[in-house]
Amino acid sequence: MDKSFDVVIIGGSAAGLSTANSVLNWYPGKKVALIRDVPYTVVPCGIPYIYGILGSVAQNKIPDEGFIKKGMQIIEKKVIHVDRKNKTVIFQDESKVSYDKLVLALGSRPNIPSMEAITFANVFPIKKDPVFLEDLNQALEKSRNVVIVGGGFIGVEMAEQVRLKEDRHVTLVESLPHCLMLSCEEEAGILVEKELEAMGINVKTNTTVEALVGKDRVEEVVLSTGERLKADVVIFGVGCSPNTELAERIGLDADRTWGIHVDEYMRTSAEDIFACGDCCTKISAIYGEPVAVRLASVAALEGMIAGSNLYRLTRKNRGVVGSFATKVGTISVGSAGYTEKACRDQRINYYKGEMTAPDRHPGSLPGCTPQTKVKLLFDASTDQIIGGHIIGGIQVADMVNILALAIQQGITADALATVQYATHPLLTGSPLVYQVMWAAENALVS
Ligand SMILES: Cc1cc2nc3c(=O)[nH]c(=O)nc-3n(C[C@H](O)[C@H](O)[C@H](O)COP(=O)(O)OP(=O)(O)OC[C@H]3O[C@@H](n4cnc5c(N)ncnc54)[C@H](O)[C@@H]3O)c2cc1C
Repeated sequence: MDKSFDVVIIGGSAAGLSTANSVLNWYPGKKVALIRDVPYTVVPCGIPYIYGILGSVAQNKIPDEGFIKKGMQIIEKKVIHVDRKNKTVIFQDESKVSYDKLVLALGSRPNIPSMEAITFANVFPIKKDPVFLEDLNQALEKSRNVVIVGGGFIGVEMAEQVRLKEDRHVTLVESLPHCLMLSCEEEAGILVEKELEAMGINVKTNTTVEALVGKDRVEEVVLSTGERLKADVVIFGVGCSPNTELAERIGLDADRTWGIHVDEYMRTSAEDIFACGDCCTKISAIYGEPVAVRLASVAALEGMIAGSNLYRLTRKNRGVVGSFATKVGTISVGSAGYTEKACRDQRINYYKGEMTAPDRHPGSLPGCTPQTKVKLLFDASTDQIIGGHIIGGIQVADMVNILALAIQQGITADALATVQYATHPLLTGSPLVYQVMWAAENALVS
């Protein structure tokens, strides 16, 4: 192993790999090391599919070869300290490597509620570590009763995939009135619940887990309703927190709620140390307030910004929109920016427009989702789009990305209603009803 590098990146997932790509593109010839404390990197967003359509952890791997070919070296060790004065990274086995520029892409860890029995071997807060994910795979193989706590996107995707093995009883427990409410419109959550129930999943909303009961293993989960659920495996998907400990230990500005403090160039409070991804602070691209959006797409974007800024400040981070999509059963939902609930909670004066139409034309074409719905939210004082929500078929992700771009650029309702776009019978809805533009038009005339 070499001992001295131009760029050392700690963290081998979305943010770290994207940083490495960016450095090698912008500054060819720089010697880059990427450090991770796992044997290989999994596709984080692919984790739920390990337990269903993918079938194994190995199928959900990000290959190293492309990065190694580009010149990146991978070091599989845990970093325990950084000597800022001597610019060295120190590993658990006391070996060291030196850097000129350091990038912290330390990620996040799952929130673990403090309750008795939470550490038992059949309780799994979803970690992005292949060894842990394999343990979960083996535990699920032997299980008949699975309780999933948290109805956000991780919980609903896990429930859907775990239930693909039909002799498993799956219960999803969510404390809010509906699933996905922290990122999507309420109506999207309701439809997703119906889809999960149609698959035989027991969905319990407005319900919390009060206790885990068992001697060495959890055997029952006690709910706030008094109900007791049998459990062979309990999975928690109840949010995540930024990994800030290393940064705090070496004296960087950071806090445990929002992450390691960074500026718009992804620079930390220390010279020559950058940070990106789930471990660092985010601000909203809409109103500039701190937000707790932790997504792989944001991590990769921030890695790209950090990597290109290491030796020359080339670009700024314009903030986070929070663009997200998921597919459950036959429906897909997508969301970008503010929901109506968030607007009401934050007393934002907004108006909205909606359009529901088939996503093929004519709607009799195979593969059509007849009720593809777009809802757009506009700031009443500026007319700029601040939220976009879609329910439909597989086109949802690409459509919501258009809305994320519109939000990032501060596009007004009129500009969005008159934007130029492509339509085709087999690929989109009709230009007479194309949902994104017509929802904007409907907002203007409502
Ligand atoms: C089940 C699940 C599904 C998801 N689905 C989606 C989705 O569909 N779309 C989406 O956009 N986002 C999704 N996310 C969120 C996404 O996974 C995260 O936003 C993303 O992984 C963040 O990437 P990151 O590189 O910042 O951090 P992480 O992925 O958390 O990686 C951090 C890395 O740092 C390493 N590390 C940390 N500390 C040290 C140390 N001291 N020494 C050495 N190495 C260290 C870790 O080993 C790891 O390699 C999902 C998350 C989960 C859990």
